[in-house]
Amino acid sequence: MVVIKENFQLKQYNTMGINVYARYFAQAQSLEEIKDILENHRDYFPFYIIGGGSNILFTKDYNGLILQPAIKGIKPVAEDHEYSFIEAGAGENWDEFVKWTVDSGLGGIENLSLIPGSVGSSPIQNIGAY
Ligand SMILES: Cc1cc2nc3c(=O)[nH]c(=O)nc-3n(C[C@H](O)[C@H](O)[C@H](O)COP(=O)(O)OP(=O)(O)OC[C@H]3O[C@@H](n4cnc5c(N)ncnc54)[C@H](O)[C@@H]3O)c2cc1C
Repeated sequence: MVVIKENFQLKQYNTMGINVYARYFAQAQSLEEIKDILENHRDYFPFYIIGGGSNILFTKDYNGLILQPAIKGIKPVAEDHEYSFIEAGAGENWDEFVKWTVDSGLGGIENLSLIPGSVGSSPIQNIGAY
């Protein structure tokens, strides 16, 4: 069951180290926990999702629920003659995911190493600028 903490300090959860507080904070370890929050914990809303907090600048306390997907796991799910398809949890660190692909002999995203943040935010942020 997901644990929702109250008056939670976010200093360690944004790379700028801004010392703000969330009224509520939860780390979801699975898709089921995310669904549980969205369906059964609306009293804590509004909500905002964070990953590694590397592209967020908090300017004041957040009067709602900060939700951090902490889903782990990296595994190959399919491959064809050209591509390998890998499933990675939103809570995986992006750079460690890139390293995993390199260590697994998979090419294609190695130029995106050392970008801060989580796998879950990568499609939102559209990692790949360089
Ligand atoms: C020093 C530095 C260097 C960078 N260099 C590059 C670079 O070379 N190339 C490049 O492409 N990018 C670069 N970036 C940008 C980088 O892509 C983002 O900072 C990173 O993707 C943000 O990831 P995060 O997990 O920290 O997201 P956060 O900062 O936590 O969140 C960013 C946004 O994504 C949303 N979000 C986060 N997780 C999820 C989720 N699981 N589901 C839905 N929405 C979510 C948040 O609500 C927020 O709107 C750089 C950033 C920094 C700070």
